[in-house]
Amino acid sequence: MHAQAMPVPQSRAYHLGKRLLDGIVAALLLSAAAPLCALLLPWLLVTGRARIQAREFVGIAGKSIWLHDFGTKAPEGAGTGRLYACMQNLPRLFDLLDGRLSLVGPRPAAPEELQSFSGIAHPRFSVAPGLTCLWSLRRRSNIDFGTESEADLEYVSHRCLRGDIGILGRALLALAYGADAQDCGACQFIGGIRLLNLSMANLLDAVFCAIEGKARMRIAFVNPDCVNIAARDAAYRRTLDKFDWVCADGIGMKIAGSLLGRPIRQNINGTDMFPRLCAAMAQSGHSLYLLGARDGVAQAAAQWALARYPELKIAGTRSGYFSSVEEAAVLQEIRSSGAQVLLVAMGAPRQEQWLERNLEASGALVGMGVGGLFDFYSGRIRRAPLWLREIGGEWIYRLIQEPGRMWRRYLVGNWVFLARIVHERFSGSRMKGTAR
Ligand code: UDP
Repeated sequence: MHAQAMPVPQSRAYHLGKRLLDGIVAALLLSAAAPLCALLLPWLLVTGRARIQAREFVGIAGKSIWLHDFGTKAPEGAGTGRLYACMQNLPRLFDLLDGRLSLVGPRPAAPEELQSFSGIAHPRFSVAPGLTCLWSLRRRSNIDFGTESEADLEYVSHRCLRGDIGILGRALLALAYGADAQDCGACQFIGGIRLLNLSMANLLDAVFCAIEGKARMRIAFVNPDCVNIAARDAAYRRTLDKFDWVCADGIGMKIAGSLLGRPIRQNINGTDMFPRLCAAMAQSGHSLYLLGARDGVAQAAAQWALARYPELKIAGTRSGYFSSVEEAAVLQEIRSSGAQVLLVAMGAPRQEQWLERNLEASGALVGMGVGGLFDFYSGRIRRAPLWLREIGGEWIYRLIQEPGRMWRRYLVGNWVFLARIVHERFSGSRMKGTAR
């Protein structure tokens, strides 16, 4: 399993540079924190609110290392909680100076976690653990779709000084999005829209449950632009209310969730879901129909999928530009294709309203509105690189690619969305529901 991604031996220059970077940053942070520590620490220690504790972790090649922190318990509440979390880990700066910890590296694992990484042979234990890591960065930006072990393997096999500095910079930016949402309700309301606040894996499980149980399921991915549309289009709002699963899509929804105190577990968007859905459907033998986008685009997206998942059954593809007169023929075509899952890429709110009206008549069991997904996978539009998505900047990339179409959505829409959320925060909206 680990054989495909064995750690690449790094040059002396890399190790020297990394050590130097760790030392300089630790020294700078320690001097910056010194005045605050001088003021607060004696009081915290004397009153017993904090104590310095050393805890055992697994270091390089499975050797025990001891890392230090203050044994304080972070109180509830966004702002103070974050401050406490930073304070809590201040003593780790000494571990950083000492070299047992690095700025960037896999998360320090406790001895009892060894089993979950299948022992010390895991490549993550070939490097020093880090104060920050790729996995926690992705969790903060809500794009943790793979496992921690996969993120660690990716880090270990691609690590370089430039990459470390990049992770560090992106981790600092991602701090602004708030903590990664661990303990959050299974349902949250944002902009009055009820979101199912589960994970990508949960969504895929639900898709296959619906197929096995021959139940119909409609899925929508809602981003800040959709929230804005829903605020002025009551029909779209009602449509979303009838959907079985509405996912929070994009960093804007996470920020809104943080501002409202309704944390969003994961950024679930159609584009990230697509390869995972294809992989699972290739295994299960169910078939997929791609409806939407300009002529030839759905077909090119299907070719992308077939090239990677040759076992996948694509029941058919069709462009998303047809008149109401042609609709019956389109539905007949999908029905006779026997597809179980139908992806509709016609943009919001058109795609959701189309699914509301037509999913049953199409014969498909699961229908999803997927926006520009086919444009990305066909190669018609390039998707933002992962590093930009990790800092929540996908929208900037889309804006640069299609400024004429996207300026209103992002340059105006993002502010309108933010104003809406701030208003919701302070008006004590009636849609506060959080269900577990
Ligand atoms: N589209 C379509 N039929 C229409 C209008 C739009 O198939 O009548 C397609 C359009 O070609 C594009 C997609 O719908 O591929 C909309 O993508 P958009 O970028 O708006 O979606 P997003 O990903 O932003 O939700």
